[in-house]
Amino acid sequence: MTCIIVHEQYNIGHICTRLQCERGLGAKTAFRWISAHQERVDYSFADLDRESSKFSTILRSLGFARGDILFTFLPKIPEQFFCFLGALKLQAICGTLFSSFGDEAIVDRLGDAGAKGLVTKKSLLKKIARVRGQLPQLKYIIVVDIEEHISDDVLSYPALMRKASSDFTAPLTAPDTPSVLHYTSGSTGKPKGVLHVHRSVLHQSRTAREVLQLTGSDIFWCTADQGWVTGTAYGIIGPWSLGITQVHYGGGYDAKLWLDLLEREAVTVWYSAPTALRMLMREDAKLYMGYKLGSLRHIFSVGEPLNPEVISWARATLGKSIYDTWFQTETGGIMISNRPGLEIRPGSMGKPVNGIEAAIIADNGEVLGSGRQGALCLKSGWPSMFISYLNNDTIYNQKFHHEYYHTGDTAVRDSDGYYWFKGRSDDIINTAGHLISPFEIESALLEVEEVAEAGVIGAPDALLFEKVVAFVCLHKQYDWSKELEVKIRLYVSNKVSSMATPQEIAIVDSIPKNKSGKIMRRVLRARYLGQDAGDISTMED
Ligand code: AMP
Repeated sequence: MTCIIVHEQYNIGHICTRLQCERGLGAKTAFRWISAHQERVDYSFADLDRESSKFSTILRSLGFARGDILFTFLPKIPEQFFCFLGALKLQAICGTLFSSFGDEAIVDRLGDAGAKGLVTKKSLLKKIARVRGQLPQLKYIIVVDIEEHISDDVLSYPALMRKASSDFTAPLTAPDTPSVLHYTSGSTGKPKGVLHVHRSVLHQSRTAREVLQLTGSDIFWCTADQGWVTGTAYGIIGPWSLGITQVHYGGGYDAKLWLDLLEREAVTVWYSAPTALRMLMREDAKLYMGYKLGSLRHIFSVGEPLNPEVISWARATLGKSIYDTWFQTETGGIMISNRPGLEIRPGSMGKPVNGIEAAIIADNGEVLGSGRQGALCLKSGWPSMFISYLNNDTIYNQKFHHEYYHTGDTAVRDSDGYYWFKGRSDDIINTAGHLISPFEIESALLEVEEVAEAGVIGAPDALLFEKVVAFVCLHKQYDWSKELEVKIRLYVSNKVSSMATPQEIAIVDSIPKNKSGKIMRRVLRARYLGQDAGDISTMED
């Protein structure tokens, strides 16, 4: 078994780079970078160590220190990895922002975190410029693709890197030192900053080995963006803590390009998501003819329920099963999974992984037996557990009851110990694996001049798992039109993110609310699905 903690050094940046070089893997490819235009560049672990160390010295020279927060706001490009690991080496906290976030989403996250620095791309700079005035704590913006500094605080990454020394060794880092920050959506309030610590590497590394079953000769491809927890836990930390070679592809979904990549790069372990797998399933069967995917050992999935028919399709078409895995931002690593060596029950998320104790708990706190639906909970204390919601102790404390962390999902355990996902216990929408807050979309909708009231729900969708449906009530003087529809969609996309853009907009006369004015999304959902809304006695007249 690879020992990743040497001399009590828990620093993730160090473990993923320098430690691998010290283990003799300096010349080994850490990642093959494939751009959207199919350029291919290999970076060794020595390259990863040097580039990330240079970034550590840059941050240090700019006055960053332990606990300061740096965000990346980048698509999947090599600088994402250098900056993330460089920040962690310095013991700064690194947050990652999905690059299609809109203005409001950026302000909410950077503002709440009090971020001191941001690394971004020229094409995203416009968004930042629009909101900069609302972010007084943001001291530096580092731009990866401009050759010269724009001003004293909008700096060129290449110019800084040209002069930077790579002479940097991560300070000895204790396991409970804060490390990674990801924001997750809430159904009632602003997004919450989920803070992790360097100790998480223990669980990420263990699950990379025991669940994904990565070994030294594997070529691993995790399709997740680094803006989400899967992209950092398994697109960076887990595999590199074990010295595994990864493929990182900067383009989006394209069935042919993906199959070319799997074949050409001889990917052995592939970690993706149900929406992408369902899209592949919908492609013409002829597309798959002629591909030789003999190198592929395992396929894993995460983020949404994996339908049994996708597993059957993969068996028939790719010659492989798909192992579903379950985790969330707060858990920092895989908690429940199917995995090689454990019989797959299609439709089930599998069983808790080593070191994790799960339970199904009723509203009254009773731990339920098999076959009964309740809240999916985890016995707290696992190594990759988040340590706080930044600036939000109240909500953090509400998540823990006695010794259990409440995940917000509902599930059933069968008599053989397999867990079956049933849904969320809140109104959060899971569209294509992205958790979206109806509250954030409703707030954006209300800023559109013509909109008087709005309510947003997630409705079942065969491809995306859930789609965003907005119910909108217009001010009396306005009429619904195609132009207004486009305006609303664009507004939500620019304010929140492209994933939050409503797929359907229904114009209604009023939005159902309870007597204290809270939107009754349950009633909207029932109406949309043509179901009985249940008890509506608390609804305002
Ligand atoms: P996030 O925190 O954005 O990573 O989202 C985590 C949430 O996605 C979980 O709480 C679940 O609601 C959902 N999720 C993740 N993996 C699965 C899975 N394998 N099956 C069903 N839902 C999942």
